[in-house]
Amino acid sequence: MAERGHGFTVMSEQSSAGRRFSLRLPGRTCEPITLWDNPVLRTTTAPVTVFDKNIRRLVDQLFETMYAIETGVGLAATQIGRTERVFVFDCHDGVVGHVINPVVEPLGSEVLPGWEGCLSLPGVSAETSRLNRCRVTGQDADGNDIAYDGEGLRARCFQHELDHLNGVLYIDHQPDGVRTQLEQEMRDSEWYGNLSLDPHTALYKRSQAGEET
Ligand SMILES: [Zn+2]
Repeated sequence: MAERGHGFTVMSEQSSAGRRFSLRLPGRTCEPITLWDNPVLRTTTAPVTVFDKNIRRLVDQLFETMYAIETGVGLAATQIGRTERVFVFDCHDGVVGHVINPVVEPLGSEVLPGWEGCLSLPGVSAETSRLNRCRVTGQDADGNDIAYDGEGLRARCFQHELDHLNGVLYIDHQPDGVRTQLEQEMRDSEWYGNLSLDPHTALYKRSQAGEET
């Protein structure tokens, strides 16, 4: 998920850079981000049953890739071309986590609109209604049961990332007219035609920069 638009918590440049630096370890590389039209984004992912170094490595790759992008607040496995049920999140509110085999349950019934973007759909965003509060449960990379409560942006992030693991994108929640317009904007984008892009490339950065307006 990408953070954009009004109403989202925005982290200062300085603390964001510090956070990334603290988690950046030698030898790790970020992965290419899969883009709209890549079939993997429409995959229903598979539950994780073996908690080994491969899953730890996947979690590391997800963090490394998310932190390579200034606006990233969450990333799901399909966004780096993987099909395990795993996502990571850091909504800049002091809670950083990863969830394997996530299940989201509502906390209350309040549904609020809010601007939502996606690192796999650079350059577009749309107001999307989500539960304002929810809980995600699942396992960590060691197979321990974990739970996180979310409100506002973090709750939105949990729902957005779980959607990814079910092959669903936020544009699917839009009225037909809005979705058609977003899809046309993406077809007209400079990045269109690429099924994935390294977030460090100038092309991807330009696509991201365009979102700030
Ligand atoms: Zn997304």
